[in-house]
Amino acid sequence: MNSSYYDALSQRDPAFDGVFFYAVTTTGVYCRPTCKSRRPLERNVRFFAETATARAAGFRACKRCRPDDGAYDAQPEWLTQACRFLELAEEAPTLDELAAEVGVSRAHLQRTFTKSIGVSPRRYAATLREARLRTSLRSGATVSTATYESGFGSSSRVYESAAATIGMTPARYRGGASGMTVAYGIVSSALGPVLVAATDRGICHVALGEDETVLEHDLRASFPRATLERAEDRVESATSALVRYLSNGGPWPQLPLDVRATAFQARVWEALTHIAPGATTTYGELARALGDPNATRAVARACATNPVALLIPCHRVIAKNGDMRGYRWGVDRKSRLLDLERNAS
Ligand SMILES: [Zn+2]
Repeated sequence: MNSSYYDALSQRDPAFDGVFFYAVTTTGVYCRPTCKSRRPLERNVRFFAETATARAAGFRACKRCRPDDGAYDAQPEWLTQACRFLELAEEAPTLDELAAEVGVSRAHLQRTFTKSIGVSPRRYAATLREARLRTSLRSGATVSTATYESGFGSSSRVYESAAATIGMTPARYRGGASGMTVAYGIVSSALGPVLVAATDRGICHVALGEDETVLEHDLRASFPRATLERAEDRVESATSALVRYLSNGGPWPQLPLDVRATAFQARVWEALTHIAPGATTTYGELARALGDPNATRAVARACATNPVALLIPCHRVIAKNGDMRGYRWGVDRKSRLLDLERNAS
């Protein structure tokens, strides 16, 4: 996956801002993927999921892209207040209540907040609820207590919003999937090796790459507490369907999934499965289709964090100007995949 992260930083792809940070061994500095400084050579780059890990490895923050700054640093004071208010509120306030609290007009609040933070106040509050829910579940609260503490009205709404079509339920998320067994196999395809992993409920991970060892390492990093078993026969129906599809000899497979998702990711990923093979959409169109035209960046990020290549077809989303933009498994693969689908349809 590292070579596609390198693609993302070469293109300064904003979809990857916050997904990873990179450090340059020759300068000792770590940056956001979007940093405007000179592009480093691939061999001098190391990738980190968090800036704390980069610091622990002896790197220091770039003065230019300021990777440690939160989304609302250097913003007007009222914007910081609005974020704090949403963070502390038991129940999400209405836009009018929030505007009154921080002393700006409702329209100014909505516009400036969305432009600076990247999501609307409503979405920001929803994301906080989800994060609180995940934290409570990890700390061992029961699902109903966690649901209540997170500000969701009823537990059924959690299932509705987070897991209806996309798989993993809150109960299974608890404990970082510990106790779960993940079976996987690796097959070669027209696009190189494909790793397919599944739980007893569905496919949980599909990745494309150059190198089997790297693919296995990434699988381990995604399920640190699960038991991994290499068992080609247990994922055989999925791998053979994918290989046929990638060789242009079979339809796009729609297989049962078992993935963990925030409510927002679940909505985006679900929407992606409705884009037909051979068709593409843009991040902005997808955001509009989801009823939130200002969520383009959040949509791009949800695409960049898709754990299941091909089956959740994030490769069918491109930039407004027709550019491929980022693809977790390499921009070159994304473009070959789209060619393949266009030729087949
Ligand atoms: Zn930088």
